[in-house]
Amino acid sequence: MTFDSLGLNAALLRAITDQGYTEPTPIQQQAIPAILAGRDILAGAQTGTGKTAGFTLPLLQQLNRHPHERNHRHVRALIVTPTRELAAQVDESVTAYGRHLPLRSTVIFGGVKIGPQVQRLRQGVDIIVATPGRLLDHISQGNIDLSKIEILVLDEADRMLDMGFIHDIRRIIKLVPKKRQTLLFSATFSNEIRRLSEGLLHNPENIDVAPRNTTAERISQIVHPVAKSSKRALLSFLIGSNNWRQVLVFTRTKHGANRLAQQLERDGLSSAAIHGNKSQGARTRALAEFKSGKVRVLVATDIAARGLDIELLPHVVNYELPNVPEDYVHRIGRTGRAGSDGVAVSLVSAVEKGLLHGIERLLGTRLPRELIDGYEQATATDETDVDSRRQGRPAGRSGQQRNGQRRNTQQRNNQQRNGQPRQRRADANENNGNRPGNQKPAGGESESETSGNGRSNTHPQRNKTAGTSGRSSSPYRQGTKSSKQLNGNRRTSAGRRNQGAEVPALFGG
Ligand code: AMP
Repeated sequence: MTFDSLGLNAALLRAITDQGYTEPTPIQQQAIPAILAGRDILAGAQTGTGKTAGFTLPLLQQLNRHPHERNHRHVRALIVTPTRELAAQVDESVTAYGRHLPLRSTVIFGGVKIGPQVQRLRQGVDIIVATPGRLLDHISQGNIDLSKIEILVLDEADRMLDMGFIHDIRRIIKLVPKKRQTLLFSATFSNEIRRLSEGLLHNPENIDVAPRNTTAERISQIVHPVAKSSKRALLSFLIGSNNWRQVLVFTRTKHGANRLAQQLERDGLSSAAIHGNKSQGARTRALAEFKSGKVRVLVATDIAARGLDIELLPHVVNYELPNVPEDYVHRIGRTGRAGSDGVAVSLVSAVEKGLLHGIERLLGTRLPRELIDGYEQATATDETDVDSRRQGRPAGRSGQQRNGQRRNTQQRNNQQRNGQPRQRRADANENNGNRPGNQKPAGGESESETSGNGRSNTHPQRNKTAGTSGRSSSPYRQGTKSSKQLNGNRRTSAGRRNQGAEVPALFGG
């Protein structure tokens, strides 16, 4: 199927060609004709399916059918999104797809000065893309009038409800005209979403491009059972040994995201954290650097990562499983986007088993488990529950090796104190990955820091350039933890969960 057959006008077809799209995605094939026919839409589609173009293209065409009279510009379409990042990305899409049309749009979100937004609004816009909190601020200041809205889009509606925006959404709905076209997109469908949609949509066309609550087929998923204390080391090992260049890593808390990004930096992996406590500038910068390849690992909380559109993002890692199973679907929706293959890796410690089972119940499938030697912990892993095993780092290091490693670490610390440059481990990994036959590197990192080996590369997800790498300074194989200790872990992580959990309402505003 081609875009021409969907009924889009020449200006939009040109913009689509500019983007390099040749074929509409399934959601676009279904949504575009229905929206052009004036229908309300209830669409089950996660990020990565091409849903933004699916509603933006026909929305632009609908508005362009009756262009504005000069000097009487009022807001005609409102797109509400849960997060600032998603708002910014949707606005970019509106601008890109509407570049050959005389329609104006702007984006409204919190965390930045309100003044420039007010000025832009005063100049007159046809389309507003907004997060709920700042939108309501503008409305209460009289900067925005929603009484002439023709099309209302609620993007990622499930997330807006998760983030506590239901009252804001209901306030916004009261301010738009009853006679309008409404498009609701949601990755998952809870009863709450159904209730919201029933009051909002008029005889909607139901579109469901992926079976609800299932993950995109092109994403391969794997679980690595691992001791909690070894997670960071295993993550560095996986990134380094597989030579992953662009990895989105999820943590549950903002504090955890910061700490992990710092630790990975120390491991020689350029990293940045993105979460609700960061200024908008810092978040935009981190995302830009990640997209450009300057930052290799982006550590994010669920809310911060929501809706991030990073083309062809190949690797997503769940450093900690989310408390809400649906978030797993959202998280891994960031990879395997628009038809490309992706890999979603979950590092799961013993205390997260319940969460894993909850996710598997939601997906209706069991995720394959693979143990990486050297990173498991006997009591953290039920061996009968493991499907495969892979060599991570040489098992059973001798005391001598361990001492050697300590010396090397010491040496490096001394080097650093003396101001000598230290070869970055990530570079060493990269070199190793490209070195045929696992020869020792020419210099610098031949010590036990890179003591893993890439011999076993049988896993379907493993990058072919996997080479030698491994973190050996972490506490693997430190003996078996007693159940008391594990229970202690459980208490600690529960405590942390309560202390550091992201506060959604602060974020989207
Ligand atoms: P979305 O699900 O809207 O976040 O889109 C995911 C990604 O797919 C974005 O990077 C879009 O630029 C891209 N995309 C959207 N439509 C198409 C298409 N028809 N062909 C190829 N890529 C597309």
